[in-house]
Amino acid sequence: MNKSIVKPLGKNVNTYLRKYGRKSPNYDSGCPCCGGKPHKHGHYKRTVVLKHSEHRIPIYRMKCSVCGITFSLMPDFLIPYHIYAVGVMESTWYQRHIGCRSFGHIRRGFCGPKLNGPSKRTMKRWLSSWKKNIDRYVPWGIRQLLLYDPFADLQWTRHTPSVERAAFTLTKRLWRMVYPESPYPFYGFFPWINQLMK
Ligand SMILES: [Zn+2]
Repeated sequence: MNKSIVKPLGKNVNTYLRKYGRKSPNYDSGCPCCGGKPHKHGHYKRTVVLKHSEHRIPIYRMKCSVCGITFSLMPDFLIPYHIYAVGVMESTWYQRHIGCRSFGHIRRGFCGPKLNGPSKRTMKRWLSSWKKNIDRYVPWGIRQLLLYDPFADLQWTRHTPSVERAAFTLTKRLWRMVYPESPYPFYGFFPWINQLMK
């Protein structure tokens, strides 16, 4: 079984490598299956692709001393099974849905000395996997907004051109209510939404 637990382990690849390049993060929670005490169980290397560069980073594994399952501690700038960092996917989503950019334009923005950028097919796959979440997210987000402010102005929801734009406006408003001092989450809105909706 190859389970991943996504944790905030550094806001980007550099901070992650500085902290965990050579040693495993501490994991104090119980086993995700049985609640037993897990111990460190080596690591594997995986590729992570950022906006303009590619890196190899260690992903640490844990093994439960009670039920014996192994699982990985995944930094939250990654999504399990995706080599692209969340920031690249999130940026693709914004550029496509909010900025109305072409796939070619988006891809060129992610090129680097040794990188060609994600293919149109890959980007389309990201967008369609997010579509499901976004459809579920909008009504949920409106309920959250009303919990914070029962008199919140929702007039804008009547004339928003797409569900994506509604999600975008909603997220910014929700974030401003929860964290009035900071303009946006340093690791991106997608992981934040994921955590909220769990
Ligand atoms: Zn266990």
